[in-house]
Amino acid sequence: MVLPICDVCLKSGMLCQGCENKLKTGEISQLDLDIAKILYRVGDGKIGYKRTIEIGDVVIIITEKDQVGKLIGKGGKIVREISKTLERKIRVVGEDSDFKAVATDILAPARISGINIVYGKDGEQRYKIRVRGEDARRLPAKLDVLNSIIQELTGEKTLLVIDRNN
Ligand SMILES: [Zn+2]
Repeated sequence: MVLPICDVCLKSGMLCQGCENKLKTGEISQLDLDIAKILYRVGDGKIGYKRTIEIGDVVIIITEKDQVGKLIGKGGKIVREISKTLERKIRVVGEDSDFKAVATDILAPARISGINIVYGKDGEQRYKIRVRGEDARRLPAKLDVLNSIIQELTGEKTLLVIDRNN
């Protein structure tokens, strides 16, 4: 599992020519750099990730599917550390996960009561995702932000609603 900057840079805290260039050309961002440093420190160099996306005030860290739990950490320990250091909300999502898994990871700890396909007046298909009403307060960000994140990650049109009956 790899981080977007090399071990030498992570160890020294300074950037080598190669990584400096990646930062200059925008291949990696300052955010990538900051997250890599934290993960290197808390994960003994064993935790990596693929890429990050920023939407609204939320940073989404995308990693290999089987690495999601590791990156979140026991009881959310690692994600909390990243969130505290960067003062940002953090979500972790597995790469190439199916629609339901992405929605579940993004909305946690709020739970989904159901997902179904609905058609708009224009005949366009959308995935309607219902969040349990009792979990509305546990949503990690605003509904519209979360909706954009799920759309961005899945490439599907979505409609995120609170399920008042559940
Ligand atoms: Zn380097």
